[in-house]
Amino acid sequence: MQKHLRIVLTGAPGCGKGTQARLLCEKLPICHLSTGEMLRAYALKDTPLGHELKQRLDKGEFATDEMIIQMVSSRIDEQDCQNGFILDGFPRTLPQAEALEDILKQKNLTLDAVIEIQVPDEIIMERILGRYTCAVCSEGYHDKNRKPKIYGVCDKCGSTEFVRRADDNRQTVKNRLVKYRELTYPTISYFEKRGLLYCVDGTGTIEATAKKIAKVLGLE
Ligand code: AMP
Repeated sequence: MQKHLRIVLTGAPGCGKGTQARLLCEKLPICHLSTGEMLRAYALKDTPLGHELKQRLDKGEFATDEMIIQMVSSRIDEQDCQNGFILDGFPRTLPQAEALEDILKQKNLTLDAVIEIQVPDEIIMERILGRYTCAVCSEGYHDKNRKPKIYGVCDKCGSTEFVRRADDNRQTVKNRLVKYRELTYPTISYFEKRGLLYCVDGTGTIEATAKKIAKVLGLE
């Protein structure tokens, strides 16, 4: 079984990329690189870049290709990525996909698989509007599908504080879906032409989708 994998998880916002990436990292000694999480951390900073990013993210607008490519390229060089990584939320545009190919070539690395998690828009909206996380350990919950066992208490760490993402509101999600179709969808055929694309149905439970991904990666 090959364990040192370099994978891209792609799909519409709310398809489950982050959840599935975290589960894969429990099975494999590889690193989860979420560009959304990296950007949200930047956006908290009281700097001109932080303020600009916060405005963009709150509206569902993308960060610039230049910034994100630079960020991913240097992150891949860090020690915890040497055994492999899962890119979650990158590449999100064709220039980012082309840049990833160049970056990996320069570093003498190859991509093993691009997995598209497919979920229709109606389900996406319901999933995103209902989701929230523990403010302390980031465990994910949902108003309908995954409530904590004890009301208001995190199953994992016992915290009673939870947070929702500022961009998880109906208007911003609509914009994020438009951006996905316009800018991210073309990256899927880009990877298909390179023989790297695997499509997985993401409408079932978290466990069911995880099983399908494990099968694609030959981890079963
Ligand atoms: P995510 O956590 O993947 O849903 O990303 C949250 C937000 O961060 C997105 O709606 C974009 O505004 C921004 N973002 C994340 N990844 C990228 C990327 N690769 N390129 C541009 N913007 C990004």
